[in-house]
Amino acid sequence: MNVVLMGPPGVGKGTQARYLTRDQGLVHISTGDMLRLAVTTGTPLGRKVAKVMTTGELVSDDLMMELVRERIQQPDAAGGWLLDGFPRTEAQAEGLAEMLGQIGQTIDTVLIIMAPNEVIIDRLTSRVTCRVCGKIMHRKELSPDRPGACPACGAEKDPVTDGPAVFHRDDDKERTIRRRLDVFAQQTLAAAGILEKRFRSVRIQGTGTPDEVAAEVADALE
Ligand code: AMP
Repeated sequence: MNVVLMGPPGVGKGTQARYLTRDQGLVHISTGDMLRLAVTTGTPLGRKVAKVMTTGELVSDDLMMELVRERIQQPDAAGGWLLDGFPRTEAQAEGLAEMLGQIGQTIDTVLIIMAPNEVIIDRLTSRVTCRVCGKIMHRKELSPDRPGACPACGAEKDPVTDGPAVFHRDDDKERTIRRRLDVFAQQTLAAAGILEKRFRSVRIQGTGTPDEVAAEVADALE
């Protein structure tokens, strides 16, 4: 099964992706995670995209297409993948459909999760992520004595950077969040429209608890 997960930043794509990779055995391909790893490890790609990412703007379509084309064809993705954060522009949506045709693959379901901007801003300004296990949490779930440690997996440090395991994303500041929401409304909704015309697509409300949204996602995939 191949799934594309779309929706504004902070709507719960990452959280739902974690459920789906666990329950459905899909390989999680998050372009945001791939870019963040490139930035923290200082690769040539990371150096190219770091500034664009902190302002909430989009990385160029050419770079993104190349990254996804390469990742989707790796052996671990052959049993099914979940694309999260891609496509984000009309050019990426057209490029993805064309590329899948070329490599003889398709999209089984496009899941589009939506929520009002105010709900999203509230969530994102307080969200933190564990670099080790990937869990996405509210700040209030952290221990006041050990704010860098992950309450889910217990990790204190990220082995790659040797920094704290739990981090707040640089682009989760209110001004940047508003810019990312504008980019979503101006460019990514159009990309969703393109996929909706060509592939089976389902729209879901992302305002419930993670478990409630997961139940709707499971229904949508049946
Ligand atoms: P995300 O974690 O999906 O919110 O992505 C974080 C940032 O990475 C975005 O704000 C963009 O700067 C960049 N990015 C991730 N995916 C894409 C994409 N498909 N196209 C362009 N930029 C992207």
